[in-house]
Amino acid sequence: MDCIFCKIAAGEIPCYKLAETDQALGFLDIMPIARGHVLVIPKRHIELFHDAEPACMGAIMELATELAAAIKKSVVCDGINMLLNAGRVAGQVVPHAHLHIIPRWKGDGIRWPWPQGTLEEESARDLVDCITGNMQ
Ligand code: 5GP
Ligand code: ZN
Repeated sequence: MDCIFCKIAAGEIPCYKLAETDQALGFLDIMPIARGHVLVIPKRHIELFHDAEPACMGAIMELATELAAAIKKSVVCDGINMLLNAGRVAGQVVPHAHLHIIPRWKGDGIRWPWPQGTLEEESARDLVDCITGNMQ
């Protein structure tokens, strides 16, 4: 499969590797939003995180929390965004699931300009029924 992150996981394309486990790999993002921007990927190809097995998510989060703590110490940031973009429309460019760890500082100017709405009671009840009904 012609997937850049599979090639990185296989060592066919170089990366600035930080840490790995059996299932996950953490490395520096090549076009960082901030100093210390890191990606954590599953070694096995999966496109969308919400299709992943819970064990895969567990492995990603285990490595990600460990890395986030080390990144925070290293770049001395005020906060961290841990971000999953799942699907092109949600901003996913590389079609191999990846978790972003992005250090943040007060006044760093990085913005998520997402418009927020209001939650109306009828819509909320509908959503609760629908989502819980679709849970297996
Ligand atoms: P997305 O927009 O898909 O959530 O984010 C993809 C991320 O992968 C981007 O932040 C981009 O800079 C990073 N990226 C894309 N290609 C490479 C690469 O070849 N090596 C590394 N280290 N990062 C990459
Ligand atoms: Zn892949």
